Amino acid sequence: MAEALKRAAALGAEKTIGELKQAGLRDRDYENLLTGRRLQAHAQLAGKGKRVVCDCVDREPGLGIQRHLLAREAGLVAEGALIAAFVTSSFDVVVHVAEDDAKGAGAVAAALERFRAACALGKDMMIETVRRPLRPNLKGYEDVPTLVVDGETLTHIGRILRDGADHYRLQGTPGSPGTKLFQVSGSVNQTGIFELALGLTLRRVIEDVCGGIKDGDRLQSVIVGGSKGACYAPDELDLVLDFDSVRESGGVIGSGGIAVLNERDCIVDQVKARIAVACNVDCGKCSLGREGSYQLREIVADMTRGKSRSGDLEMLREVGQAMQVGCACGAGRTTPNIILSTLEKFPDDYEAHMKRRLCRALVCEQYVTFHILPDLCDGCGVCAERCPEDAIEGGTKKIHVIDQDSCTKCAKCYEACLDLRKAVVKAGPIKPRTPKKPIPAGSWGA
Ligand code: SF4
Ligand code: SF4
Repeated sequence: MAEALKRAAALGAEKTIGELKQAGLRDRDYENLLTGRRLQAHAQLAGKGKRVVCDCVDREPGLGIQRHLLAREAGLVAEGALIAAFVTSSFDVVVHVAEDDAKGAGAVAAALERFRAACALGKDMMIETVRRPLRPNLKGYEDVPTLVVDGETLTHIGRILRDGADHYRLQGTPGSPGTKLFQVSGSVNQTGIFELALGLTLRRVIEDVCGGIKDGDRLQSVIVGGSKGACYAPDELDLVLDFDSVRESGGVIGSGGIAVLNERDCIVDQVKARIAVACNVDCGKCSLGREGSYQLREIVADMTRGKSRSGDLEMLREVGQAMQVGCACGAGRTTPNIILSTLEKFPDDYEAHMKRRLCRALVCEQYVTFHILPDLCDGCGVCAERCPEDAIEGGTKKIHVIDQDSCTKCAKCYEACLDLRKAVVKAGPIKPRTPKKPIPAGSWGA
């Protein structure tokens, strides 16, 4: 126990940082800077009032990599946190855990105490595990010079000190050594969180790790990197998943999310959801990041609401490109990745939403209407019972009819009939023929 800590204590701060540099460890965040260099820069700051914040919070809906780490490797996170504080002469360690992850917070707090007792190194430090939101300012947290290191990077600090830099470099690529946790979702046979050596291709992840595309689905695209990532077309699956290759392709490995999309997914809707998340994740410190992400979010949301203006596509490109070079931090600079990559690869989907008011995947509410197919409806009445707007007219054994003026497109009738007769369908510009008023079931077309 505490092997990594004991080795760091034996090596001393300078040599420990040297070991991390030799291992080529890079942060598992949006910027992927060399961790050893960042630790060294923090160590060189004068004064004792320094802090290390260990960021163990998943900020993107549906992603749970930090939670996964705390459930399985709280000890390594704790060791990495204490080593980071030791080598930077920071006497204040704050481990930030998601508000609802009491179990993870308990596990890491217990590990920190265990290690402090086992190794002299952490004895004088102030250590706190918090689940409340932390508010950074330009100087750090609460005006104290602060180094933020994410939980996954901390586990790698622990491993490198435990096993040595040379052993660490056995996995990954020369520029991106080691492994990374990826969370794969969507149209693959095996979804989940996987720890993979950096340098695999996207194709190998989908085919070998996740068992291929689900039967019956057609691969439409893959979004790599969560809300900050880029979108890749099916002919780009040879993308190598290391920090530099992904960055050169216009994306970032970022949170490690990989979403595999099929033809039922709408690209513009996916972009809208991710930009909305990015707006919440961004720190808001620079005005270009703040205003730019707000503008991107509103323009894309308007496209899905039938409120596009001419020039919107140019505006998205201009704002996105300006953010990529002008934002103060990596989080802001990566926000437009998803927009710029999809504009380049899927321009027709944007055009269809803007000019033809068409969502081919029938996802964007504004461009979809719900209808009941008269030859399938048996008049069971379940959809009418579920409709919160009383928008479905029917009667016993009558073909039911949706009043389009009252329908708010909540899809409850669609879901209700899915397991019954699949009589409720979504339609785009071409609508199915339906009776105007309920008529006896089975009489349509007779
Ligand atoms: S649409 Fe479906 S749920 Fe509604 S009455 Fe017809 S069969 Fe029943
Ligand atoms: S989509 Fe919702 S509001 Fe519209 S008819 Fe169906 S249940 Fe009613």
